Amino acid sequence: MDCIFCKIIAGEIPSKKAYEDRDIFAFYDINPQAPIHILVIPKEHICCIDRISSDNSAIIAKIFEKIPQIAKDAGLTNGYRVVSNCGNDACQSVRHLHFHILGGTPLSETMA
Ligand code: AMP
Ligand code: ZN
Repeated sequence: MDCIFCKIIAGEIPSKKAYEDRDIFAFYDINPQAPIHILVIPKEHICCIDRISSDNSAIIAKIFEKIPQIAKDAGLTNGYRVVSNCGNDACQSVRHLHFHILGGTPLSETMA
């Protein structure tokens, strides 16, 4: 499968790792939109939120259980935002489900 994030998980494309376990990989965004910008992804290829189901939702729960630790370890002690773009109108550019963790400065009050 020609998926850039699957290649990052496999180590075929380099990344700056923030966290890894059996099911989850987290790495710094190459084009940060905030002082701290981390992407958290399932190792299983799921294209987007539209493909979350009872078959794979346990991994989504695991991701959200880990996000506070990933954020804290990255130095985000004053809050952060979690975003996931799904589909064309949201400008999802990589079709492997990912959750952006953004922080390190006061963020915009608007989200769109
Ligand atoms: P989205 O637009 O929500 O699909 O987000 C995709 C994100 O992946 C963007 O913020 C990109 O900067 C980021 N990205 C794309 N390629 C890489 C890469 N090789 N390493 C790290 N982040 C990447
Ligand atoms: Zn993938």
